[in-house]
Amino acid sequence: MNRRSFLRNICIASAMTIPCNALAVELVKKQPHEQRGQFDLHVKDYISKMSHFDSAHPDDIVLEGEELSLLKSCTAKITRVMRTVGYGNFNIISMDEAFIFGKRYSRIGAFSAEEKAFLEKIFYYDARTLGFYGDKPITAFTQTINRKNVIKIRNSGHYLFKGHPYEVWQEIKKALSSDVILTSGVRGVVKQFHLFLMKATKNGGNLSLASRSLAPPGYSFHGISDFDVGQKRYGKSNFTARFTETRVFSKLNELGYLTLRYPRGNMLGVRYEPWHVKVSS
Ligand SMILES: [Zn+2]
Repeated sequence: MNRRSFLRNICIASAMTIPCNALAVELVKKQPHEQRGQFDLHVKDYISKMSHFDSAHPDDIVLEGEELSLLKSCTAKITRVMRTVGYGNFNIISMDEAFIFGKRYSRIGAFSAEEKAFLEKIFYYDARTLGFYGDKPITAFTQTINRKNVIKIRNSGHYLFKGHPYEVWQEIKKALSSDVILTSGVRGVVKQFHLFLMKATKNGGNLSLASRSLAPPGYSFHGISDFDVGQKRYGKSNFTARFTETRVFSKLNELGYLTLRYPRGNMLGVRYEPWHVKVSS
C-alpha cells in the first residue's frame, strides 16, 4: 500500500466523527508486527511534512502546463473581482456572482468556459488526494450566502453568521474588549477559492502545499460558522504560532473559547491554527 492511500485509509475518520489520531492508534494495535514499522515511518513522514507545511514535498500534487496557466488566469481574475466588489462584499459573493461581475466589467474580464470548468474541477476534487482530511461542509460549487443570515462586524470588513457564531463573538468581545479583533469571518466559495488559489499560485501550482495551510474550497468551516480572531495591532503575526504569545490567546484559552478545529498535531493535514475559533461541531 503506498503512503497516500495508506493515509487516506487511516484518516477515513474525516468523514466520520471519530478523532483521526484515536483511530490511528486503534489501527496501530491491529497492525501485524511486520507492518507496524512501515506504519511508524508513514506517521513520522506525516509529522515531518506538517511541521514543514510551507515547503514542497516529493509527493505533492503540483499543476503543470495548461492547468498551471488556468490556475494563474483564474487567480488573477478572482483578484480583480475582489478589487471591483470591495473586500467586505468579496467575503460573501457566490461563484455565479463572480462570473457575472467578470462579464459585466472589462477590467475583470469574462471567465472562459475552460476557466469555469477548471474551477469546478478544483471544487469537486477529493482533497484527500492532496493530503487534506477535513470534512467538506459546503458541497455546492454554486453555494450562495443569504445576506439576511449574516451581520457585518464594525471596523473589521468581515461578516459573521447570525445566531450562535455571532453570540460567541459577542461573548469574546465582552471578555477581551478592544484587545481582540476579528481577522476573518464568513467566507463564501469565492473567497476561499481566492485564498487557496493565491497560495497555490505563489508556490508554483502546488495544491498539496496550499492545502496544508488553507482548506481547499468547500472544506472551510468559515463557510458555515467558524471565524478567526487576533490581537489588536499584531498584524500578520496573528496568523502565525506567535499568536499563542498574545494576551488574547491566553485569555481565550483560559475562558475555554479555543476549542480548536486544527490543534497541534492534528491528523487532518492542516497546520496548527490557534487563532481559528471552532463554532460548530
Ligand atoms: Zn480560520
